[in-house]
Amino acid sequence: MDRKIEIEEHVTVSALADHLSIPVTKLVAELFKNGIMATVNEKIDIDTAQIIVKELAIDVELVKKENKLVEQVRKRPENSSKATKRPPVIAVMGHVDHGKTSLLDAIRGADVVKGEAGGITQHISAYQITHNDNKITFLDTPGHEAFAALREHGAKLTDMAIIVVAADDGIKPQTLEAIRFARKAGVKMIIAVNKMDKTGADINRLKQQLSENELMPEEWGGDTVILPISAKTGEGVKELLDMIVLVSDIEELKADYDVPGSGLIIEAHMEQGRGSVAVALVEHGVLRPGNFVVAGSTYAKIRNLETTTGGVLKEAGPSTPVIMTGFKVLPEFADEFVVVGSEKEARQKSAAYATEKEHTGTLDMTSSELIRMINRNNQTQEVNVIIKADVQGSLTSVLDSLKTLDTDEVALRIVGSGVGAISENDTRLATTTKAIIYGFHVEVPSSVKQQANRDKVDVRLFKVIYELIDDARLELEKNLAPEIIEESLGRLLVRGVFKITKQEIICGGEVTKGRLAVPSLAKLFRGDELLSEVEVVALKHGPQEAREVLEGEMCGVSFKPLSKTDVQEGDRLEFFTRTTKERKL
Ligand code: GDP
Repeated sequence: MDRKIEIEEHVTVSALADHLSIPVTKLVAELFKNGIMATVNEKIDIDTAQIIVKELAIDVELVKKENKLVEQVRKRPENSSKATKRPPVIAVMGHVDHGKTSLLDAIRGADVVKGEAGGITQHISAYQITHNDNKITFLDTPGHEAFAALREHGAKLTDMAIIVVAADDGIKPQTLEAIRFARKAGVKMIIAVNKMDKTGADINRLKQQLSENELMPEEWGGDTVILPISAKTGEGVKELLDMIVLVSDIEELKADYDVPGSGLIIEAHMEQGRGSVAVALVEHGVLRPGNFVVAGSTYAKIRNLETTTGGVLKEAGPSTPVIMTGFKVLPEFADEFVVVGSEKEARQKSAAYATEKEHTGTLDMTSSELIRMINRNNQTQEVNVIIKADVQGSLTSVLDSLKTLDTDEVALRIVGSGVGAISENDTRLATTTKAIIYGFHVEVPSSVKQQANRDKVDVRLFKVIYELIDDARLELEKNLAPEIIEESLGRLLVRGVFKITKQEIICGGEVTKGRLAVPSLAKLFRGDELLSEVEVVALKHGPQEAREVLEGEMCGVSFKPLSKTDVQEGDRLEFFTRTTKERKL
């Protein structure tokens, strides 16, 4: 390698062109060739830059300029030899309406002392219970979105996934998606077969379905734990908790307690009288009121530290979900937080993080996406889309879920994505790339709406992630080549040829197999050789036109040759029908 060039983790296209001493247009064109519509001022990440450099056969090595401050904030402590046992963190996932919320309520209800907090089950994004002296933390992930977004952070935040499947409904697309997520994240799964109280609940059918999806039940010789439950009656919930304790004992989950507290923000909102309120999960160390905490580009001196049900905490160790107040600005979902020594340090680190983030720009084409595009075969039918979402967390989730739709045959090509309202830039990009704009929890300002209408830009807004994904799936399905179904009917042995013209051939013979029908198609064989395919126009049984002639009967056939065709006595016509069927993803 001739040259080593230090660049930031995210670099503008124009700066990269400068570094490489090539015209910026050449770089833009190369990016474009690889499916990235980046303008000169937009940023690409270093991995993408490295791939492009390779594609351009430029002999330089790009290395990342270290940003010490930010690195320190982000660095995740490894467990030391002093690490001790910590509670497991559980995510509950599954198809909509299969009973995730009910199960979480049932588990929480079993623990909540009657009357506490008025016994109200307000929505909380995480909670911890104690089951036979064992603490267990549950994340109430809104669908799979949070789970996916948290996974993006590389953190194995969740130790175990409970996949809820309704016994009366069986495995559904989101069940499979949840299983895929859990597998990809490498977390243990427990299948909770819910609604066992309902008539029609069939656990065996479900076990069959699971085994067809590489989840062989334990009792059938596999290693998938399947438990029948009813979130409604509470049946099986205790056994489920016992199983969680058992599995986490086997996993020997540990963390350090004797280090500065750190973890992940899982929710943040403003509350009247309390200011910014953040729900977070402590991963390492211990958090205490009065600690200075940096979370992404904001920081706090922790004013109140509470359990997610409002109990006051003096300290919170690993795997504890907490509420903290005192942030200057709301932190973001999936921001990492870490305790630092002083307010000055907190201010510096959050500012450094903010500066780096500013450089990230809105184009979030990552290297993995680029590799995927390069590797994609040329036959792939692509649908261009632009994705806008309200916050980074949901954008990440939408993008993550959309990626799972791609196949070798059809794929989405994300030509742009970002956080915030749909803008004129987006509609312009949509016009040039013929893209559909998907908005998730975002608005379209009226001026943009007008422009979109004028330019016939297809803008689709959603508030439920699955509906957005389903819509994109339908869009991809439109591009799937239809399935061709050929059904064979019967065979005619040609005994005489009466007329051969370019437009029409009439011959006669005996039906030696099956039945002949019209309209239909036929393949003309001489011996083993397929001569041509023809379109059957009419059948004659005796002097009468017939719609059908059966085996053993003699008949006349009139057909239209689709290519140059000659027929002789002794040839065979194999009759069949051909229909097409739309395929599903
Ligand atoms: P989620 O969308 O997965 O969170 O599902 P919910 O918890 O909201 O449940 C969907 C519906 O199924 C609700 O009407 C629940 O009352 C019902 N449900 C949930 N669990 C059970 C169960 O064990 N038995 C019965 N009969 N109904 C249940």
